Amino acid sequence: MTEAAGTAGADRPFDAECLFCKIVSGAIPAEVVLDTPRALAFRDINPQAPLHVLVIPKGHYRDVAELAAAGGGLLDELVLAARDVAVEAGAADKGYRVVFNVGAGAGQTVYHTHAHVLGGRGLTWPPG
Ligand code: 5GP
Repeated sequence: MTEAAGTAGADRPFDAECLFCKIVSGAIPAEVVLDTPRALAFRDINPQAPLHVLVIPKGHYRDVAELAAAGGGLLDELVLAARDVAVEAGAADKGYRVVFNVGAGAGQTVYHTHAHVLGGRGLTWPPG
């Protein structure tokens, strides 16, 4: 359930049942690599590439379309945070991938918007 209240007094949507909201609040630990006022980036617990970081909005939006519909430049911030993560990891020069899975059929398992930032190895196309 999405609630109007924010975490730690922040004015943003929050879901007390959501895994990634719990990471934002600090209730569940994560290896954070970037922390901005509205976005958080942390290492994926099950990495699929040498660089595999999840970039999320601190507010709760179930998928990237809901995030985009909310406006306010949040989606732009996620994409720029993804770039900063790739640059910092030294993965930008050879290319990196930013993936939003939307819906169970596409592999979305956590319904809090997240960009997968993948890099540090050759990435084939099409994806599986
Ligand atoms: P999705 O399948 O929804 O696109 O991506 C969810 C991602 O979250 C998966 O790559 C999964 O490994 C990662 N993940 C799931 N639980 C945790 C966790 O507790 N901590 C971290 N850091 N990543 C998680």
